[in-house]
Parts: sequence; structure tokens; C-alpha cells
Amino acid sequence: MTMALCLFCGELKFGALCQCEECGEGSTGEMEIDIAFSDHRMTKKSLIALGRIVKHINESEAKPQEVKFWVFLKYIAVTCPGLLVGDFDFPKEVESEYLRIIFPPIKIDYTKQVDVNDVIDYLTGIIARVIVSDASWQAFGYKQRPRRGAFFRKFTKRERLNQEDFIKNELLIVALVDVISAMEASIEYKEARLSDDYRTLVLFGILDRLFTSKALQYSDEMLQYIENAIQSYRYADSSKRMEVLVSRGKNHLGAKSLPQIAFGAAVITTYSMSAIDLVLDRSRLADWLKSAIPVGDVNATSNNYSRDHVIKLCCRVFGSKN
Ligand SMILES: [Zn+2]
Repeated sequence: MTMALCLFCGELKFGALCQCEECGEGSTGEMEIDIAFSDHRMTKKSLIALGRIVKHINESEAKPQEVKFWVFLKYIAVTCPGLLVGDFDFPKEVESEYLRIIFPPIKIDYTKQVDVNDVIDYLTGIIARVIVSDASWQAFGYKQRPRRGAFFRKFTKRERLNQEDFIKNELLIVALVDVISAMEASIEYKEARLSDDYRTLVLFGILDRLFTSKALQYSDEMLQYIENAIQSYRYADSSKRMEVLVSRGKNHLGAKSLPQIAFGAAVITTYSMSAIDLVLDRSRLADWLKSAIPVGDVNATSNNYSRDHVIKLCCRVFGSKN
């Protein structure tokens, strides 16, 4: 059962929208606010601590009740940024009352709401860093990251391009698998923050960004390639990932490229590439995902791909294990 704070009297009650047994008041009329002060969003300890703030404000001279309520929201806006979405425009009397009251120090442990697009951009940034970094390419014997526009691609040997594309795609997908695993880990905790639906949406958003930026070239074959690669890397623990890379290199590029791929894989395994973030810290990422609740819709930025196909892939990625 949901434990919630009654914003009228400061006692705990059962059910965020239910009537308080202590004072008889019910919902504030704003469901978002009611839910924010429940154990969906913070620990019971934090709810009790905030109850002390409500009582403290109630004991103040502020009148009427409505002003007291707004003073409490002002307190929340200052001490828990991100708990409530939206900008409040506080009346002057609320501002001055807020400044007048000396609040007891309390500790609040809460989860923030963040725009799902910010989550997606953040995770895509982490993934893209892997191929932008020269160090990743140096592991495979390149002086630096190959930068080729469409014009230069025309004059580069097919074999060489295939190898570069292979390394780039594989490194991206290995990093993507790290993010997928972190998203799975984050919902294994009891206080699940990232719902199944949002996991799928976040993955969709990441693929949207990668296709839009052309970090991955969209095609139906590419989509199949990505899905196969995710499955290959996903259930290999991180020490075995590079063995998977070598065997995939053998299949996709043939024997000639193999020494270079194997060398790169060995370098990455030896140094575990922590310095260049190639092997992502999954537990840290899962912690980060736990600390924020994504809200809102994904802004898909490109029309250059089949949205349906990509979403289906995302559903399969998270559906296959259950
Ligand atoms: Zn109450």
C-alpha cells in the first residue's frame, strides 16, 4: 500500500489520493502533487521529515490555509528541485512568508522527474563517446578516428571502409548493450524507477538519435544487424565480449582483417579500457537511472527510418527474456 504525506496536517496516510484519518482532508486536487509526496518518489523517512515541515508551517502565523500550502510548495521548489515539474509563480505574500519562517534542517531522499529526452540524450552521449574517442581507434592500430565524408569514401578501398564501419558499429553496439543491461539492472531493484514501457521508449530514442546523427546508417539490413549483435553481446559477460567481437569479425570481414580486430580486442581486454569509457560502469549507470524518473514523450527527430520497425526491435530486446 502506498504511504503518503498529508499536505494539510503533516501526518502520514495510506494512499496518496485517499482521505487522511488524522484531519479528514483528501487529495490536493493535483494528482501530480499528491503522488510526489508518496513512497513512489521518496523514502518513508523523508515523508516523515517533510511532515515536520508541514506542521512547522501550520504553526506559523501564515493565513489562510492556502498560503500555508503555497509556502510548503515554495519550500519544495527550493529544497527538492526536480521533484515537481513546472515553474510555479508564487504570490508575493508567499515569498515573504517563506523568507520569514526558519525551517528545521531535515534530510530528504527523493527521486527527480526528468524529461525522457534528457535521459535519452545523456545515454546517447555516453554511447557515442566510444567511437568519437581516438583511443578506441588506436587500440585497433589507427592513428586516430577515421573521418571520411561521402566524397572521400568514394576513393577509399571497399575493404578498408568495411573494416572501419564494422569496428564503429560493433563498438557502438557493445556500448549500447551496456546501457541496455543497466536499464535492466535498474528495474531489478524493488523501488523500480524505469518502467518496462519507458525502457523500450528510451532504447527507441537512443536508436533515433544514432540514426539521425548517422552514427549508425539506417537500413532494414542494419536493423537486423543491430538486433543480432545485441543478442550476441548481451549474454556474454564483459570479459567475454571481446571474444564475441573477434568471432563476429571473422564472419563479417573475413580472414584478412582478423589480426587487426583480434589485436584491438586484446588491447581492450588487457586495459579494460576504463580510461576511455569503452567498458561502461553498469552499476553506476543503473544507479543514475534509479535516481531519475523519466516523464513525457520521446521526440523522434528523424523521418529517415521506419519508426514501426525500430519500436518493434526495442520491444523484442526487452521482451525476449521475460
Ligand atoms: Zn491530514
